[in-house]
Amino acid sequence: MADYDMLVIGGGPGGYVAAIRAAQLGLKVACAEKRASLGGTCLNVGCIPSKALLHASELYAAAATGELTKFGISFKGVELDLETMLKEKAKAVKELTSGIEFLFRKNKVTWLKGAAAFEGPNSVAVGENLVTAKNIVIATGSEPFFPPGLVPDGEVVVTSTEALDFTAVPRHLVVVGGGYIGLEMGSVWKRLGAQVTVIEYMPSIVPAMDSDIAGEFAKILGKQGLALRTGMKVTAIARDGAEAKVSIEPATGGPAETLVADRVLLAVGRRPNTDGLALAKAGVTPNARGQIEVDGQFRTSVPHIRAIGDVTPGPMLAHKAMDEGHAVAEWIAGHTGHVNPTVIPAVVYTMPEAASVGLTEAEARAAGHELRVGKFPFLANSRAKTNRDTAGFVKIIADAATDRVLGVHILGTMAGTMIAQAAQAMEFGASSEDIALTCHAHPTHSEAVKEAAIAVRGPALHI
Ligand code: FAD
Ligand code: NAD
Repeated sequence: MADYDMLVIGGGPGGYVAAIRAAQLGLKVACAEKRASLGGTCLNVGCIPSKALLHASELYAAAATGELTKFGISFKGVELDLETMLKEKAKAVKELTSGIEFLFRKNKVTWLKGAAAFEGPNSVAVGENLVTAKNIVIATGSEPFFPPGLVPDGEVVVTSTEALDFTAVPRHLVVVGGGYIGLEMGSVWKRLGAQVTVIEYMPSIVPAMDSDIAGEFAKILGKQGLALRTGMKVTAIARDGAEAKVSIEPATGGPAETLVADRVLLAVGRRPNTDGLALAKAGVTPNARGQIEVDGQFRTSVPHIRAIGDVTPGPMLAHKAMDEGHAVAEWIAGHTGHVNPTVIPAVVYTMPEAASVGLTEAEARAAGHELRVGKFPFLANSRAKTNRDTAGFVKIIADAATDRVLGVHILGTMAGTMIAQAAQAMEFGASSEDIALTCHAHPTHSEAVKEAAIAVRGPALHI
């Protein structure tokens, strides 16, 4: 008799959802988590604290820069109390991580506190204790990745974890990597008063994004004062007392430059985390990229051991991990789990937000589709005009023959929320005509999605 029907290793969005769902389905469940609080990277040092700072810094910037004066709202003597801002962020994190603990208690999931390591295919040591389980789900997430020679020191050269807790606004923050973390954390500290330079190796920021969106996005962030140095590589970072000298040069070769920064944020991606798991004792071997490969039911090469979330191939996003957690519990309980890897939205929570789901135009063409593309700018959307925030546009990519929607890309203040309707439409196999014929409430930013869908087959109405 095993101690548990299911043991989850890792209490992040993947692991905690898997544990709760399996318990709800009647299984005896434990979750091993070595961190002092549940919620993983996302709740402790990822999604939640970064969004708390993005929100607070946006409010500060709105008050401090005079951008509300045109609405007749002006502030005098605006001051930044960073300590209070960080405390409020910590409060949000604490409330949410304690919420997961509450849900564990409510659903009778046992939290085994400590680092887990396999002793055999069905046995795992968690701290001093040995537990056995019929099914094991590996949900150990990811850790920051560092290219050779670029190593954080935790003070001047840091990862996102420290950049969420700077106790003073940097004078000059150099961010290595113009992806999700670089743009979000760069935006936070820029709004709070830092000079921010982002060094991106590829020719455009967030290289996986649709190129139309990426181009416009870069222009807008540039106007906000972020110095975006694309097509540049960092060759060395040398600590010099309280500063660092960052050597950069064009990625394709050319003259070198040195930037002096009091903080350098390394944000060039994350790597799957299987450190200390002793996977070999379970008979599971990660692939060359360190990921644990799984089949459609999240089974590894050892079928009763499954894996989900950042430790597996695919986008490293909390909602992907959560959906996989839900689905893996369903499979283990004898039901059918569902995650559609082609319909996973992605959002960069800057201002404006950049959101996408499905294929980019380049990916759709490379996959052999003839396309029809509809676009609609927020400049012609009545609600965006009313709110005086008309940056960005909606782009819908449909197959020319079938009209099926293949991808939706949105740059705009509400993009992160609006992308849900696009994901739902794609999940239902919608055509662009389905979206165009759906009644959208007026006046809303979402009408821009309807207009972009109308524009797939003919002229949009309000332009
Ligand atoms: P994780 O959340 O990494 O959780 C894994 C857990 O396993 C950790 O708590 C770890 O302590 C534990 N663990 C590891 N090994 C062991 C072991 N041997 N024994 C016991 N416990 C172990 N994604 C979004 O979708 N939206 C966002 O806005 C967003 N913002 C982010 C901002 C930042 C700064 C960062 C760094 C990431 C962000 N992400 C965001 C990504 C998101 O955090 C991850 O995709 C998500 O947390 C992955 O969930 P997971 O459950 O796979 O792993
Ligand atoms: P990322 O993959 O988003 O971006 C890394 C960027 O660094 C890429 O644009 C890449 O081209 C560039 N790069 C790589 N090597 C480089 C080098 N040597 N010099 C300069 N640039 C280099 O990774 P990230 O920003 O570190 O974030 C990690 C992951 O965390 C993301 O991929 C995402 O999955 C997740 N995340 C998501 C969100 C969100 O959903 N809003 C927010 C933060 C993090």
